[in-house]
Amino acid sequence: MSKVYNFSAGPSMLPEAVLQQAQTEMLDWQGTGMSVMEMSHRGAEFMSIAKTLHDDLRELMAIPDNYQLLFLQGGATAQFSFIPANILGDKQKACYINTGAWSAKAIKSAQPYCDVIVSASGEASNFTAIPEYADWNIDEQAAYVHYTPNETIHGVEFQTIPDVGDLPLVADMSSNILSRQVDVSKFGLIYAGAQKNMGPAGVTVVIVRDDLLGKAQQGLPDIFNYEKQAKQESMLNTPATYNWYLVGLVLQWVKAQGGVAALEKTNQAKAKKLYEAIEQSSLYTNPVAVADRSRMNVPFILADSGLDKAFLAAAQEQGFLSLKGHRSVGGMRASIYNAMPESGVEALVQFMAEFERTH
Ligand SMILES: *Cc1c(COP(=O)(O)O)cnc(C)c1O
Repeated sequence: MSKVYNFSAGPSMLPEAVLQQAQTEMLDWQGTGMSVMEMSHRGAEFMSIAKTLHDDLRELMAIPDNYQLLFLQGGATAQFSFIPANILGDKQKACYINTGAWSAKAIKSAQPYCDVIVSASGEASNFTAIPEYADWNIDEQAAYVHYTPNETIHGVEFQTIPDVGDLPLVADMSSNILSRQVDVSKFGLIYAGAQKNMGPAGVTVVIVRDDLLGKAQQGLPDIFNYEKQAKQESMLNTPATYNWYLVGLVLQWVKAQGGVAALEKTNQAKAKKLYEAIEQSSLYTNPVAVADRSRMNVPFILADSGLDKAFLAAAQEQGFLSLKGHRSVGGMRASIYNAMPESGVEALVQFMAEFERTH
């Protein structure tokens, strides 16, 4: 197999060291004679995997003691509904910031549960900029404020945490969790599907502050109830055991890289290289406001869309995979999550320059 660089937006590339360790341990986890897939989730072996997973995430994100960690199924998409169902309490409204495709989906999913106030929207800029904080229309009667720190499709990312006063701030960090340091204490709830920066699809992390528990709507099935899941350590039913194990391996890899702070530095350097290459070129452009550009997902368009096919074919042939942009925005998109090495971005930049020279 030749060397490839996978720029897929998700599921996306995993660190090679993680895949190798999973391969080594596939048939026999640490001398037990069992694959992790075959273990009882109540057995001592798996309990130790689960404990390390919880401890490592707490350590890496410096999660305070008054937050619960849940590892659930159903993706970030299921949380779009479970969040209002769990934390509205007796409030009837929630504020949402609309910065692109994913926040729009979160808004649509919340509407059956409450009066959704869209406090700010990037629609006027075609979702190429984050609406100015000063213009946000936050309703003090709302149960929470929801936003999407990184819009995976549009490539816009918040560079700071918005201040929403005393209201709980809820964040969909699916595509930038563990990519930069965040102060968890500023949030009421953080959630993320694993398949971008944390592991394979099939497990979703929810980090929820204690005071938001115990407010679930009547009739909500226990399995979707944060408080009940927290009490049972996300084992109200059989959890996605192998996925927990793989996320655990990714967290150990993050630690070995020097933690989130070290990855943040590399991510900054990677993004800088790619954006600078786009800026300097006369073939490629990125439509996003400079201050709001994502470090994780870099969309770019070719000056002549007639060249798109040739670009993608040449990229594929040289091992640069999954660069096609999302169908809703067109063009190209390079997703450069934690697992993408700096050398992968450097190679892509070289390829792009060479393509420009020859076309
Ligand atoms: C990918 C993604 C989702 C959807 O995640 P699923 O796990 O497929 O439900 C939601 N929000 C953001 C920001 C994403 O990038």
